[in-house]
Amino acid sequence: MIKVENLNKKFKNLHVLKDIELRIEKGEVVVIVGPSGSGKSTFLRCLNRLEEIDSGEIIFEGKSITDDKNDVNKLREKIGMVFQQFNLFPHMTVLENITLAPIKVKKMNKNEAEKVALKLLDRVGLKEKANAYPSQLSGGQKQRIAIARALAMSPDVMLFDEPTSALDPEMVGEVLEVMKQLAAEGMTMIVVTHEMGFAKEVGSRVIFMDNGKIIEQGTPKEVFDAPKHPRTKEFLRKVL
Ligand code: ADP
Ligand code: MG
Repeated sequence: MIKVENLNKKFKNLHVLKDIELRIEKGEVVVIVGPSGSGKSTFLRCLNRLEEIDSGEIIFEGKSITDDKNDVNKLREKIGMVFQQFNLFPHMTVLENITLAPIKVKKMNKNEAEKVALKLLDRVGLKEKANAYPSQLSGGQKQRIAIARALAMSPDVMLFDEPTSALDPEMVGEVLEVMKQLAAEGMTMIVVTHEMGFAKEVGSRVIFMDNGKIIEQGTPKEVFDAPKHPRTKEFLRKVL
């Protein structure tokens, strides 16, 4: 589904991603871990071209996302993203947040978009919040709405950038629960997280990044129980 070849990304003189090579198959749940500043967020942002890359190639469902012949907006519709800070539109209700892109981008009619949105709200357990504003929701609820909003575009892959890092501890579980359910339904997911329990339980593969490189990868068991690289060992000692 995703093929990354020889990806390099710099911010001025700062070489943030170095020769990243990665293939992700449909249905995989890939968990990316690594220290702060190692390039995890930048990598996710490159995947849907929120960042321009300096060299290399990213092929999504057979199409290069950096080739201007391919409509990047069309590709982006298929790539959902959930951020640490939710990024809901504060002046819109939950229902408006979820239906905005399907109506504007997918040209879905309002009734149809609302029907889909209510189904998704039911799925994340927040049907009764359809007419609430983001400010009236808890962090965990906001993040579940953000997930529903991304799903409303029927993406083929979901990218999560530390989706629970901004949450109070008692709200982490409800968001991870929604993500686990998604994974169980077969969604292809790339998840940057420090939630090692989640990684162990639902990750099909764990990737350890350090200083712009993929240092190590394997099944959760391989990476967590028998890390090979000294940097991985050191990192896991601190977080586990
Ligand atoms: P992580 O998500 O693993 O913490 P990031 O991808 O956010 O790492 O950042 C990787 C490096 O790139 C860091 O050194 C960070 O300061 C730098 N960086 C990230 N975004 C920008 C930007 N827009 N401009 C300049 N430097 C950036
Ligand atoms: Mg980050």
